[in-house]
Amino acid sequence: KQSSSVKVVVRVRRFVQRELDAGSPCLIKMDPTTQSTTLMAPAASDRSRKHLEDKTFTFDKSFWSHDPGSAHYAEQADVYRSFGEEFLDHNFEGFHTCIFAYGQTGSGKSYTMMGTPQQPGLIPRTCEALFQRIKHQPVPNTTYNVHVSYFEVYNEHVRDLLVGGGDTRYLKIRESPADGVYIQGLTDATVRSYADVEELIKKGDKNRTVAATKMNDTSSRSHAVFTICLKQIQHSLTHDETVETTSRMRLVDLAGSERANKTEATGQRLVEGGLINKSLTTLGRVIAALADQRRVVPGGSGRNSPRPGTPGAGTPGRRMSRLPTNEVVPYRDSVLTWLLKDSLGGNSKTAMVACVSPTDYEETLSTLRYADQAKRIRMQVRANVDAIT
Ligand code: ADP
Ligand code: MG
Repeated sequence: KQSSSVKVVVRVRRFVQRELDAGSPCLIKMDPTTQSTTLMAPAASDRSRKHLEDKTFTFDKSFWSHDPGSAHYAEQADVYRSFGEEFLDHNFEGFHTCIFAYGQTGSGKSYTMMGTPQQPGLIPRTCEALFQRIKHQPVPNTTYNVHVSYFEVYNEHVRDLLVGGGDTRYLKIRESPADGVYIQGLTDATVRSYADVEELIKKGDKNRTVAATKMNDTSSRSHAVFTICLKQIQHSLTHDETVETTSRMRLVDLAGSERANKTEATGQRLVEGGLINKSLTTLGRVIAALADQRRVVPGGSGRNSPRPGTPGAGTPGRRMSRLPTNEVVPYRDSVLTWLLKDSLGGNSKTAMVACVSPTDYEETLSTLRYADQAKRIRMQVRANVDAIT
């Protein structure tokens, strides 16, 4: 078992037309040597803003995707290369992984996760690389089995994105000792090639709930969760046993963070109007609790959890392993955090991409603070190996 922290990166996008029209200045500066990101205070044109200051944060990586002319410009492939690839390695080693995209509406979350047909993002690149590896670097005597699901959380309801025809039924969440938390009846599609995945992505994206907002007409109030499940079944001829390794990669495109901020700032309670996003505010509380926990329990509390199952040793410890301190983390307060419990404080290698606009001081500051807090979370990760003799 290893202890690992949440990998946190930030990415700033280029100006969009609205910002070009307004002649907004770029408020972000990144230093490629220290990976720090500085948010510069906008010019104090009105008096209420004179208290604003420059703020600098350091992340695992600061992606400069603002102007393609720059020597440090990070394109889609650079973002994938810097941790998508590493996470895929973890999956083949049997670890669960999770990548969140966080940020205000229009900051580049969907661009980073899904991208466009010309500029594919992390999800298509991960899937393509996964099948490349299975095809070109298979481990001897190993059978690979890949499943994909795609759902969204909208107003605290779960909707299957792989069911077409305007099906708007909501699915129930269940929890069982054997399977943990799961969504009842969710499509779990077997995929045999990258082309199969592409088909599903197209279908899912068409089904996504989109709500027009002031800032970005294709933006969404929903959280989209794309999950790839990789099963590696290895038959050892010398030991006459079968070892099954299951790993899950979750790629999460969160709803716009401005909702969470606004509601926190004003104390509005407009649940019915969908203004408050319970899943997003709870995610913030979960992250805060997990970040705090680490300070309260220095060095982690790994001693309390059972030892991981070793291949061939019988019962693996993976399903019972829950740190006692996790009880205070409010996972169950929202649908998203309940479903992603394992990816947050549990058994997963997790990363967060904080997406920022180059022009919005308040929202960017709040995103950078959020990301800064996520850096403090530590995960207890172990490979998910089951020996079937
Ligand atoms: P979000 O999903 O956070 O609401 P989008 O991903 O839809 O934001 O991005 C908003 C707009 O900015 C889109 O038109 C998108 O194509 C563009 N965009 C975002 N990030 C980048 C980037 N790194 N490079 C070029 N264009 C980008
Ligand atoms: Mg989006």
